[in-house]
Amino acid sequence: MAMTGGCYCGAVRYAAEGAPMLKAQCHCRACQHVTGGAPNYFMLMPGQGFKWTQGEPKSFTKPDKENAVTRYFCPTCGTHMTTQRPGLDAVILKVGTLDEPAQFGAPMIAIFTEEEQAFHLVPQGVPKFDKLPPGR
Ligand SMILES: [Zn+2]
Ligand SMILES: [Zn+2]
Repeated sequence: MAMTGGCYCGAVRYAAEGAPMLKAQCHCRACQHVTGGAPNYFMLMPGQGFKWTQGEPKSFTKPDKENAVTRYFCPTCGTHMTTQRPGLDAVILKVGTLDEPAQFGAPMIAIFTEEEQAFHLVPQGVPKFDKLPPGR
C-alpha cells in the first residue's frame, strides 16, 4: 500500500510504502497530549518505505525519559506526524495526517489502556493491553 500525507499547513509532506506492520490506538498520557485528549491512532510502517518528500520536520526527544521516542512535527504549524522508537526499524505514523485517513481501516489492538480516560472508546472486540503487547 502506498500512502501519502503531511501536516496541517502543507509545508511538510511524506510518503510511506509497504504493508502496515501494526494498526493500533494508544491511550498513554503522552499521546493524550499530542492528540488533544483522545487515543492516538497510528500505523507502524516499514522504515525503509518511509521518506519525507517536502519540507523538513523538527524533532523532539524528551531528555528526562529513558529510551524516549523521537517525535517529528512541522516547524510551522506544529502538526505531529511521526514517532520513532529507539531500536525499532519502523515509523509510527499518525493516521490523522494521512491524505486519506480511511486507509487506516480499523485498529487491531488498543495499547497503554492503563492510562486511558473514562471517556475513551475502544471498539468492541479490539484486544486491550495495559502497556505494550507481549514481545513488543
Ligand atoms: Zn505544517
Ligand atoms: Zn501513546
